[in-house]
Amino acid sequence: MIPLLLFWSTDLLEMAANTNPGLQIRATEQCISASCNISNLSSISFSFECKRKSCTDFRGSSYISLSKPIDSSKLAPIKFEKMVTKAMSGAREQVPVSGLPIDLRGKRAFIAGIADDNGYGWAIAKSLAAAGAEILVGTWVPALNIFETSLRRGKFDDSRVLPDGSLMEITKVYPLDAVFDSPEDVPEDVKTNKRYAGSSKWTVKEVAECVKQDFGTIDILVHSLANGPEVSKPLSETSRKGYLAAVSASSYSFISLLRHFLPIINPGGATISLTYVASERIIPGYGGGMSSAKAALESDTRVLAFEAGRKHKVRVNTISAGPLGSRAAKAIGFIDMMINYSLENAPLQKELYAEEVGNTAAFLASPLASAITGATVYVDNGLNAMGVGVDSPAFSGLNIPTDNKS
Ligand code: NAD
Repeated sequence: MIPLLLFWSTDLLEMAANTNPGLQIRATEQCISASCNISNLSSISFSFECKRKSCTDFRGSSYISLSKPIDSSKLAPIKFEKMVTKAMSGAREQVPVSGLPIDLRGKRAFIAGIADDNGYGWAIAKSLAAAGAEILVGTWVPALNIFETSLRRGKFDDSRVLPDGSLMEITKVYPLDAVFDSPEDVPEDVKTNKRYAGSSKWTVKEVAECVKQDFGTIDILVHSLANGPEVSKPLSETSRKGYLAAVSASSYSFISLLRHFLPIINPGGATISLTYVASERIIPGYGGGMSSAKAALESDTRVLAFEAGRKHKVRVNTISAGPLGSRAAKAIGFIDMMINYSLENAPLQKELYAEEVGNTAAFLASPLASAITGATVYVDNGLNAMGVGVDSPAFSGLNIPTDNKS
């Protein structure tokens, strides 16, 4: 049931959808009131602020994008008022594409770990959206307010632009804290913490239930989050508490997400996490058990690929990404050094773009990667393949080719 108050007749909407199945209609003004369960409505693309109370306390803000053929029976109760609409067409048009495209139209993705437009999660969301997938996001509760406010105020509009010129739509943002599996696990000090006030149903189990209630199923699950409170301490000086916190937030969180979302991932679906080469090579400075957490994540990728593949026909892969100046990476403190090191030493002497990781994730999530599972895929300009740092003075006598143009 979708009692929205918008400013358009259902007939007009239906006609528009029928004459152009790929047409997206963008509504740009705030709706007066809305209470929507959009689980079965998949029709025309809206982007609007919607005062709805759904499974999660959503603080009145959501971005909704619906792009499958219209079901007029579901639209019957909608009244559209006071809304300016703008037609957009582009990547989601249902026209055949030549070549070998990544086509995720009709797929729905849940991406855990987006709180701004700088990190890998955002880049992955954009690539999945560019390929036609519907985007749901899980945002860490303490970062939720600022993320939603920024989104609503258009702060991310420039970085929402997709290759076809349209803007990435986020259908819904869910509050999430991936270190808690269910409400019983949440300690009192977190429950009463003011950074968590105003949000509810943010443990992994609850978020999966909410997504199920709102949308039924998903096809793609992305884990793009990590946290190690003692990351700046050498491993040998890391406390038990700090080590376990790193593993809990950065590796077990993936097991938890998979465990709770797997029942609603459609067969043929795909999951992707983000890892780092510190799991297998020494990277001084990446401490606090974070290297251990990434090693666990990669090992779990293989075991979970077997379990999820056999039981649910779902693929599990991880991308080992090169250094990116994300918010999390900047907090570690030496990301600029790592970026420069990569520029000097990687086989490809060029900047690594988050988009390159995003595009790899879109490929891995697509049917084009239907036989790839249990894999750690490097997207790092090849740095992982190096055995030595060629910028060392020890190699000054060697004539090592350098791409000075980049
Ligand atoms: P980011 O800051 O964009 O993403 C990290 C996200 O994790 C943030 O949105 C943060 O709010 C979220 N988060 C932290 N704790 C959480 C929790 N308990 N529950 C839910 N969300 C939580 O930074 P990023 O560098 O893009 O990180 C994304 C992934 O990429 C991480 O797994 C990271 O280890 C990995 N990675 C990053 C780099 C790099 O250089 N930036 C390199 C390789 C791998």
